[in-house]
Amino acid sequence: MNRRAFLASSAAAATAAGTVKLATAATVPLTGETGDPLPVPPSEQLPLGPLAGSRYPDSHIEALDKRFKGSPGTGAVERVATGFRWAEGPAYFRAGRYLIFSDIPNNRQMRLTEDDNHLSVFRSPSYNSNGNTVDRQGRLITCQHGGRRVVRTEFDGTITIIADSYNGKKLNSPNDVVVASDDSIWFSDPSYGIGGNYEGLEAPQEQAKHNVFRVDPKSGEIKVVVDDFTQPNGLAFSPDEKKLYIIDSGITHGGPAHIRVFDVDVGGGKLTNSKVFAEGFAPGFTDGMRVDVEGSVWTSMGWGDAKEDGVRCYASNGDLIGKIHLPETCANLTFGGLLHNRLYMCASTSVYALYVNTRGAAYP
Ligand code: MG
Repeated sequence: MNRRAFLASSAAAATAAGTVKLATAATVPLTGETGDPLPVPPSEQLPLGPLAGSRYPDSHIEALDKRFKGSPGTGAVERVATGFRWAEGPAYFRAGRYLIFSDIPNNRQMRLTEDDNHLSVFRSPSYNSNGNTVDRQGRLITCQHGGRRVVRTEFDGTITIIADSYNGKKLNSPNDVVVASDDSIWFSDPSYGIGGNYEGLEAPQEQAKHNVFRVDPKSGEIKVVVDDFTQPNGLAFSPDEKKLYIIDSGITHGGPAHIRVFDVDVGGGKLTNSKVFAEGFAPGFTDGMRVDVEGSVWTSMGWGDAKEDGVRCYASNGDLIGKIHLPETCANLTFGGLLHNRLYMCASTSVYALYVNTRGAAYP
């Protein structure tokens, strides 16, 4: 091969290589805005520890009925972490004694270790993660607004996509998730995470409705279990898994602010007998909830009267039996601690905690 022929063949090879490269090019989506931590001078940061004025019995804990188990007596609401733009999605890992939660606008998941209250970044970018939970094997399950998916963090640290589309179209923005005893994964899919670039990535809605889905543990099949919510949000099973509670925070989009309860066939993925379980949150709304061993429903409260910010507790028959008052709008909560008797509450810029006189249901 002479020099001219060599150059010509090299050019052809380069062109071919270039063509191949272009043909296989894939677009990597943006991971979303990654915020800097709140630039609050240390002297002006919200203090950690008991809240101001928390002489025992703590006036932040309001019993409306003898059934309320919110007060340990010799205890008070404590601020255990602060400095977030908007905290949601607490999930407690008993084996490691740490809490994972999302700081959605800062595009990060945080980890708070319970032994020395050490706070650090667990994952960033988090694809604007929102709801987190722990599955029956102890793995982290996460809803990602920016990724428009539900993912599982495996024991080796790799991430498995559980659900990112339905009927060939992208999910809206999975918000909250719960795992049943048969390992099925149930999640809500409102539009909050695609409405702008602050808590996710602005994008067209592809799903016609805002559904709650069930992912089958064996086949991986994704199925709609209910499709008539304005904005489905937090969800929780009763301890016996005969009922499923689902929050509609649709007041943000012209709908209701209430909790519905269904009879649920966990294995079949069927919801029947829909009823409004709790209402009266407007002009504010509730976002996330957990259930204790007696079946009482502990649900967040915020966005209305500041005096109502915090948590409301409803007996299983729907009676409002108690409140926990926080200095910030509360979005999500979970029971943590080795004995599941420490209520962690994600409220705007801070995480609050309270030892309560009951225990969370074995699984969130
Ligand atoms: Mg939520």
